Amino acid sequence: MTHLEFFTLFGTEQQCKAHWIELRKKQGVICKKCGCQKHYWLSKKEQFQCAKCRFRTTLRSGTIFDSSHLPYRDWYIAMYLMTSSKKGISALELQRQLGRKRYEPVWCLMHKIRDLMAYREDQYKLNGEIEVDEIFIRVANTLEVDEKLQAGKGSQRQATAIIAIESSKENDKGPKGGKRMGYVKVQPIKGHGAIVAKRALEKMTETLRKIVSDKGHEFGTLSTLAEHEAVLSTQENNDEHLPWIGVITANIKRAFLGIYHSIKRENLARYLAEFCYKVNRRKFGMEIFERLLNISVLPKFVVN
Ligand SMILES: [Zn+2]
Repeated sequence: MTHLEFFTLFGTEQQCKAHWIELRKKQGVICKKCGCQKHYWLSKKEQFQCAKCRFRTTLRSGTIFDSSHLPYRDWYIAMYLMTSSKKGISALELQRQLGRKRYEPVWCLMHKIRDLMAYREDQYKLNGEIEVDEIFIRVANTLEVDEKLQAGKGSQRQATAIIAIESSKENDKGPKGGKRMGYVKVQPIKGHGAIVAKRALEKMTETLRKIVSDKGHEFGTLSTLAEHEAVLSTQENNDEHLPWIGVITANIKRAFLGIYHSIKRENLARYLAEFCYKVNRRKFGMEIFERLLNISVLPKFVVN
């Protein structure tokens, strides 16, 4: 979908709303009061009415649009821009594009969309052969007035995340040591060490055959999960053993530094979910926008 095609289909509030009504009808509404799934559409009132208890559900109720006062069009444009821009878009830039006076509702809308992406990402687990590493991401300074800045891994300015990538060898030549990249997961972790890394990986994966990592002590116990190859990684051999870790880490750092200037530690998981959502759907083209739209009508309780 090009910008022109998008604005032809979803350029006005009426178009977006009409599309949303069809989506909700297709998805079906569950009555908050009695749980009944059969509803009548009251076109004058623009509400669904439960066939059993006659309780009415508004168009936004129960979805991620619930309690948002922004027009449908803003939501559609936000989802479109967040999925079509390769690097991502800042809340300030989106606020400007939407012509909104207030920053906060736009910021909030973007986080709701990220939560939706995170929900979707959580449903997938990694399988087969994976590359694993820890990465450090610069976050907003949380230093108290008279607190001293710590250096390195414990720094208040650095957050630690674990990165795991499906990476299987397809041939002996080719770029990246002949390894093909599959699904990517990056999640923040609290603390440091072998137990933390192993627990995080257990949550991210399903049926593992092999794990490749560097020789760090934090990966010392991974052989209990699958065959574990720990390599002493250097600049030269990284392309052979951990080729995709380098690529993805560089992409994250570039995107986060260039677009979101000060990510708060508590929101890092959301930004990483957005990043992974897009990387994992890199071959979908503009279908990625439609897919996101389709899950945005899911009941809120499913997403949260
Ligand atoms: Zn009912």
